[in-house]
Amino acid sequence: MSARSGIGYDSHRFADGRKLILGGVEITEAERGLSGHSDADALTHALIDALLGAAGLGDIGQHFPDTDERWRNADSLGLLAEVCTFLDEHGWSVVHVDATVICETPKLGPHRDEMRETLASAIGINRLEVNVKFTTNEGMGAIGRGEGIAALAVATVDR
Ligand code: MG
Repeated sequence: MSARSGIGYDSHRFADGRKLILGGVEITEAERGLSGHSDADALTHALIDALLGAAGLGDIGQHFPDTDERWRNADSLGLLAEVCTFLDEHGWSVVHVDATVICETPKLGPHRDEMRETLASAIGINRLEVNVKFTTNEGMGAIGRGEGIAALAVATVDR
C-alpha cells in the first residue's frame, strides 16, 4: 500500500473590482471577486496544498511565493497543472480529490459540474475522481458575515 492522503485549506477576502474564480471557473453572477496575488482561486489553492501534502512536497507558498512577480494574477489552474506534473516527476499519480467550499453567497451549486470538469482536466484525471461540495458557515464568523470564501480539500495519491 503506497497510497497517501494530504489536506489543504485556503481562504481569501472579497474585494471589489475582481472576478470571482473558483475551481478555475468564473462565477459571472458574483458581484465581486477575491483579493490575492494570483487570481485568488481559493478552491484550487486548497487542492494544490492537499496534493503537495499527500506527496510530501511542501506547500503552495514554497512553490509559488506571493512575493514573486511571476505569480501576479497567475491562473491558478495552470499552477495546479504544474503541481501535478511535479508530483508525476516524483512518481506520484493522483487517485482522487475532494473539496468543500465555504461561502454564504453566491450559490455555487449551478457551477459544480463545470468545476469538476475543469479541475479534472487540469489534474489529468477522470471528473468522477474530482468531488466538489458547497456549504455556508450559517452566518457565523468572518465567512458567515460574507467577508470572504474558504476552501478545504483532501487528495489521495499513489505510487
Ligand atoms: Mg490562496
